[in-house]
Order: sequence, then C-alpha cells, then structure tokens
Amino acid sequence: CGIVGYIGGKQAQSILLEGLSKLEYRGYDSAGLAIYNGQQLNVEKSKGRLMDLETKLATSGLQGSLGIGHTRWATHGKPSDENSHPHVDHDGKFAIVHNGIIENYIELKEELIAKGYRFTSQTDTEVLAKLLADHWDGGLLSTVQKVVARLHGAYALGIISEYEPDKMIAVRYASPLVIGIGEGENFIASDIPAILKHTRDVYIMEDGEMAVIYEAGVELMMMDGTPIKRESMRVDWDI
Ligand code: GLU
Repeated sequence: CGIVGYIGGKQAQSILLEGLSKLEYRGYDSAGLAIYNGQQLNVEKSKGRLMDLETKLATSGLQGSLGIGHTRWATHGKPSDENSHPHVDHDGKFAIVHNGIIENYIELKEELIAKGYRFTSQTDTEVLAKLLADHWDGGLLSTVQKVVARLHGAYALGIISEYEPDKMIAVRYASPLVIGIGEGENFIASDIPAILKHTRDVYIMEDGEMAVIYEAGVELMMMDGTPIKRESMRVDWDI
C-alpha cells in the first residue's frame, strides 16, 4: 500500500514506477498508474507485482508529466485488475489513488447507485471517484473539499483531473503522506524513500491537512482551506 505522484516537466511514468518500487516493503497485491497526456487521463493497472504492471506498460506506455501511482493492499474487494487503483469516474475526468479505508463507503455507494452511478469494482475507493464527479462544482480544490467532508475513516489521497491538469491534490487523514519539493517539479509519496532520488526537501503532512501541488509550488492547507505556513524539512539521510 503506497502512493506516489508527480507534476513537472519530465515524463511521469518511470518516476512513478521507480517510486512505487521503493515502497514495495510496505506490501501490496496490485499496482497501477494514471497519467495525463495533455488531452486525457490514461490508466494502466494490474493485479500482481510491479513487474506485471511494467509488462503491460512495455508495449506503449503512458505519456505525460502529471500522474499518480499506487500499490494496493486490498481491504475491500479481492486483488484484481478492476479493484486496483487508480480509480476513475464514469467519464474518466478524475483519477484517484487511496491508501486506507472509507468506513462509510456502503452508504455513499448506495446514494450514488440511487443517482444512477454504476460501479465496476468492489472497493471502498471507487466511491471517491464517483463522488468527485457527483460533487463537481467547477473547481477541483472546492470539489475535493466537499467530497472529503463526507468521509469517515482513514485516507491518504492523490487526485488529478482532466479539468485542471495544472495541479495535483493530496489529502491526509490517518494514513501517511509526504510532499517532495523539487525545482519546477513536485512529488507526493507515502514515504520519503520513494522520492529521495529527486529531492531532499519535504513536507510531512499531518492528519487533517491537504495540499494543492503545482509544477512551481505547493499550497499547504487544512481540509477547510485554512492556509498552513510551515517550513519544509531537509532530509539528511540516505537509503
Ligand atoms: N481500501 C482500499 C482498497 O481496498 C485501499 C487499500 C490500500 O490502502 O492499499 O482498495
């Protein structure tokens, strides 16, 4: 169970895959990536080892410089391609990776099904992708805030959207998440080793915090939007 995200000027795929490999020690049963190619979000995911995902990516691969990656430790729904993350909404406008458990996902799912949403996985996480579409208000940050306000449980989230491909959103509650600060590029990860090759300047997110991450900077805030002023931390150890 791990998360990696990238926004910047380089191709995201290899950065995400390498980052995920550094999180393998956390354990996982499937892996996946979502990358924005300048026009749309593309997803590749697979049950099994990172190697299985890499095999799928070997033919064409995912192009683009904005992306999120995930290794899953199944809690709701068996390990399968469909249950692997990232999860997307019905139009493929939002992609989300999640570590943790959404405790109230059944009632959220029932509400969405009553509205006509169809589900393709057994995960608790898929409700988040559908909730993003359902709560879409024309702004990615405010939409994520509305969705997060409805959740009970534990969640580290990485979110990207075709609507606002200049940013990535990170949310942390009771599951770890760090932000890596680069030059003209920024990162998210479950743990520092995943991004240490690229930067030593990090924010360790605390429970109840979220961040809007652009190529050129990071806005750290509470989940209600209250800005947080905090110095980044310099990592002085190696892996
Ligand atoms: N609860 C989610 C799932 O089962 C996320 C699991 C994880 O943290 O990897 O898909």
